[in-house]
Amino acid sequence: MPHVVTQACCADASCVNACPVNCIHPTPDEPDFGTADMLYIDPDVCVDCGACVGACPVGAIVPDDRLAPDERVFLDLNAALSEPGRTYPPQAPVPAIRRLEPARGPLRVAIVGAGPAALYAADELLRQPGARVTVFDRLAVPHGLARHGVAPDHPRTRAVTDLFALIEAQPGFDYRLGVEIGRDLTVDELAAQHHAVVYATGASTDRPLDIPGLDRRGSMSATEVVSWYNAHPDHVDARVPLDHERAVIVGNGNVALDVARILATPAESLARTDISPLALAALRDSRVREVVVLGRRGPAQAAFTLPELVGLAAREDIDLRVEAPDGIAPDAEPDLQRRLTLECLAEVAARPPRTGSPRIVLRFQAAPVEILGGERVEGLRIARTELTAEEDGVRAVVLPGSEEVLPAGLVLRSVGYRGVPVPGVPFDPVTATIPHRAGRVLDRPDGTEVPGAYVVGWIKRGPRGFIGSNKTCAQETVDALLADANAGRLARSAAHRVSRNR
Ligand code: NAP
Repeated sequence: MPHVVTQACCADASCVNACPVNCIHPTPDEPDFGTADMLYIDPDVCVDCGACVGACPVGAIVPDDRLAPDERVFLDLNAALSEPGRTYPPQAPVPAIRRLEPARGPLRVAIVGAGPAALYAADELLRQPGARVTVFDRLAVPHGLARHGVAPDHPRTRAVTDLFALIEAQPGFDYRLGVEIGRDLTVDELAAQHHAVVYATGASTDRPLDIPGLDRRGSMSATEVVSWYNAHPDHVDARVPLDHERAVIVGNGNVALDVARILATPAESLARTDISPLALAALRDSRVREVVVLGRRGPAQAAFTLPELVGLAAREDIDLRVEAPDGIAPDAEPDLQRRLTLECLAEVAARPPRTGSPRIVLRFQAAPVEILGGERVEGLRIARTELTAEEDGVRAVVLPGSEEVLPAGLVLRSVGYRGVPVPGVPFDPVTATIPHRAGRVLDRPDGTEVPGAYVVGWIKRGPRGFIGSNKTCAQETVDALLADANAGRLARSAAHRVSRNR
């Protein structure tokens, strides 16, 4: 009777080293760790000891006899992800922890941003005796997307804040909230007060979508809606028009799925979550009965992850539908995770409709063309695409003469996040990240290192991955910082080199 990794998996891999028989994969040293949608437990190897349960920060690991009815599907999913014949060493390698040489004296580090990447970096730094970490954030409340980005119906994922509370309680940890670097304090001032500065500013805006009609009322970014239902101080009183029976979301990543689910979930269920009261009141009066989630490419290129799809497909109160003009071909897909995604989509497409329930339509090969209406949104013109294989991947090309109009009162763009520059810190406008080498900030891509400046999280590697992906990211950055400290390359007086080196 094995344990099972369920939907909330944050992939921080804390469970991996707790396991005495190396049954949780991929481990951080395995090649598919960076691309895996979730970790899984090999049921043939698990000895059911439960050591992983306490190590998981989000309660995602459950003994199979305690799975809720809508989680049982994850038992099959863990088994399906465990490829027969794949062999593993008896123990996952434990990453070596670099030690700060005592002769270097106490280390003072500033971290800019208070989201998951910042907290994981603080945790790594505070393992060093005498280290002091001050975490700055422009908002008065910490935890970034763990607080303002996770959907309220994902309470286990939100429980990662319990781990953050343990990190915050460590000696040497300090917050300076409500302080914006670049406005209230310059990077030079910050650098002068610390041996090192770690930038963990995330990706706080949206990638743009270039179609006409974006300024009509009812055209919004999905992340604004996420911030609205999570009571982000900048968006808590946003006006989200819910008076039309259809909403359309452009893009089919996990943010799109989160928003579609919240719009389609009955308000009485949401009332049991910690959703913003203002959003709940608006959702109680919502007339939305159908949310169409558009993917410009095909099912094999869907951006949502397997556990989020499986979790949505298991919801009995939602009529999930799939529209894939060129069909779904799981057998042609070589990648196991993708194949399981396609199998799930094919199973959903073949289901009889659950008439009477709010509907989510996952529509593929549909590109946005123009948001229609007058002062407010009345619909979205879309076009069918065909897929072409190029050197850099599969592309969607609009088929001439294939346009149609989807009447809707709300059109949300959910095409990804984008990093924002910090004044005085190098920034690559193409990737919208801070250029770096193994976490050390560079003055430009492929340029020279900026002494004392480091980067972690989405502003380092782009807006991809899960909350726990920041743990291995933080380990890399902090390892570089400690190596520099041991080599005598960090000294407080040498600060503000960030701006001088630009
Ligand atoms: P995302 O996964 O990058 O998805 C972006 C979507 O926008 C893709 O479908 C993309 O299609 C589409 N797109 C981009 N440009 C477009 C255009 N011009 N026209 C039409 N479509 C366009 O972004 P996200 O949903 O914001 O998620 C960001 C990261 O956060 C992801 O790693 C995600 O897994 C993570 N996240 C995780 C959770 C969770 O675990 N529950 C929740 C929220 C977010 P193409 O693929 O064709 O470019």
